[in-house]
Amino acid sequence: MAAIPPKKVRGKKGGASTPARRSWRVQLGGPSFLGNLFTTVLIFIFLMSAYSLVASFFEPVNTTSLSSVAADVAAGKVTAITVNGDTLDLTYADSSTKISRKDPSAGLPETLATYGVTPAELAKVAITIQGQSGFQFWMMALGPTVLTLLFFGFLFWFLSRQVKGAGMQALTFGQSKARVIDPADASQRVTFADVAGAREAKEELVEIVDFLKNPKKFLDIGARIPKGIILMGAPGTGKTLLARAVAGEAGVPFFSISGSEFVEMFVGVGASRVRDLFQLAKKAAPAIIFVDEIDAVGRVRGTGVGGGNDEREQTLNQILVEMDGFEPTEKVVVMAATNRPDVLDPALLRPGRFDRRVTIDLPDRRDREEILKIHARQKPLGPDVVLSVIAERTPGFSGAELYSLMNEGAILAARDDRKEVTQYDLIRSIEKVMLGPERKSHLLSKREKELTAYHEAGHALVSSVLPYADPVHKISIISRGHAAGYTLKLPFDDRKMQSRKQFLDDIAATLGGYVAEEMLFDDVTTGPSNDLAVITALARGMVARYGMSEKLGPIAFGERVMGNEPYSEHVASQIDAEVARIIDEAKTRATKVIKDHRKALDAIAKELIEKETVEREDFEKTLIANGITPKKREEEFIPIQS
Ligand code: ADP
Ligand code: ZN
Ligand code: MG
Repeated sequence: MAAIPPKKVRGKKGGASTPARRSWRVQLGGPSFLGNLFTTVLIFIFLMSAYSLVASFFEPVNTTSLSSVAADVAAGKVTAITVNGDTLDLTYADSSTKISRKDPSAGLPETLATYGVTPAELAKVAITIQGQSGFQFWMMALGPTVLTLLFFGFLFWFLSRQVKGAGMQALTFGQSKARVIDPADASQRVTFADVAGAREAKEELVEIVDFLKNPKKFLDIGARIPKGIILMGAPGTGKTLLARAVAGEAGVPFFSISGSEFVEMFVGVGASRVRDLFQLAKKAAPAIIFVDEIDAVGRVRGTGVGGGNDEREQTLNQILVEMDGFEPTEKVVVMAATNRPDVLDPALLRPGRFDRRVTIDLPDRRDREEILKIHARQKPLGPDVVLSVIAERTPGFSGAELYSLMNEGAILAARDDRKEVTQYDLIRSIEKVMLGPERKSHLLSKREKELTAYHEAGHALVSSVLPYADPVHKISIISRGHAAGYTLKLPFDDRKMQSRKQFLDDIAATLGGYVAEEMLFDDVTTGPSNDLAVITALARGMVARYGMSEKLGPIAFGERVMGNEPYSEHVASQIDAEVARIIDEAKTRATKVIKDHRKALDAIAKELIEKETVEREDFEKTLIANGITPKKREEEFIPIQS
């Protein structure tokens, strides 16, 4: 049940994130290692018990002591003795047999002599000396030793096998695992032609391309080319793409690592990887080193928020050291990207480091169309496709989102076994990228359906009546992602700024769902909880960040966190009071709209219950039928010539 302002709630960005590479991670202590150790111990226990079983099998059962043997011999009861190693097989006069043992190192006569048997008495006994069977002897004598040795050998082999993969890496993980893109590899080559929009950024970077292509020209005349360029922009705006394009244009190798790979690393590893990376790049110069997501290591040091991270600091320090240590003559340009320039350590931005900053904005309508064209290159489009319309309907989309929109469209076409992507495929993909896939299986009870319909109708109605709210493009009670239903509002233009009036109408429209529920069902559900979070954030932003509260005036109060309290408790409670007042007034306005246009609300809700999804054209007809004039777009859209 969300009113969705296009920039606030979005689906996952597609294609923008590279999975973190974890191949270097050592698995010691990991579950599989422990599991294998456990198996090894089990095998050992099994071998030991097998051994004692075998040993006891050879253990004679009917044994008698040597002293009684001696006594029997002296008494002449024994007729024959077979000596088998340390085992004595005794045969008695009554032809019974017994077994006894002696010390294997001493002979039988000596042994019996110590028990007082005289040679004469012994002479009456037939003595046969039999070599003990080799196996049995060795088994007894060496069994335990051999088994223990075997066990340790086995254990060692097992462990070395385990550790080999990881261990080899453990030995080499200092070396950079940077991905390298070779300029000769045409399949990987990206040029400026693959990056739409971002005009200013490209202009800035052309100079770097020139330098990398022809460093001598610049060095001869004593020009200093920046060592470090930092690309700043929202996720998916093409920072990584642009950095690769610089390398592609210049035809130099591109070494890239991501800051997030350094997090969770062993202390010291990050720093040595940075060192190796710079060394590799210098050898390959001219070259580009690209540090993606540099904010992951380049956050302000020593703030103590969340505890210090030694590894991060050491990695960052190493980057700084390397950048300070190389000369422009080394023809290596370091590029970095971040979507959080605000958290970067100022040390990174000092002259001689990342002193050149390039901002990449979210694409505007024209850029969006160009980006769509780039990604439509390999996709056969149907004759009805008008990319400018898609571009118009996707304010706030990043390049990465436009890429996945195109991709989703192609998937829809392929699913239906069609050879061409149609406009309808692309339109459906907009919502999919924005909100996540539809959940048709999510069945609503009759009452839930009614409630959701009135909730969404409330958003749509207030949006349409209040002059500064965005026009409604579509309303639906088919759940998507987390929302039970949604009202798609799109501004006419790409909005870079938002005024106080727009904020206030936005808050009222977002409250429209809550107000409709309360008024009609005399109750509120958990449905609008997301709406409430949105409006609270909006109202707080108005008061504390944008200076839009008359009472508190044009002051940006900043964030109040532990240990950093830029304003007093008194001001904090004044801010809270202002936020509450703004929301309360918005609620009053939303309530008035819904009361004044109760018939329209019922009509919209009824249509929703019937059709589940209502597009803009039908919605506007309902508005007109109820005496509400739909918003008109101010300017005509001018399509780009291709
Ligand atoms: P970032 O690094 O800023 O998060 P990426 O460079 O990884 O964004 O962009 C992800 C993908 O989105 C790119 O591979 C490309 O397909 C698409 N993309 C983003 N911006 C553009 C653009 N300006 N032109 C063409 N494609 C783009
Ligand atoms: Zn809602
Ligand atoms: Mg990136």
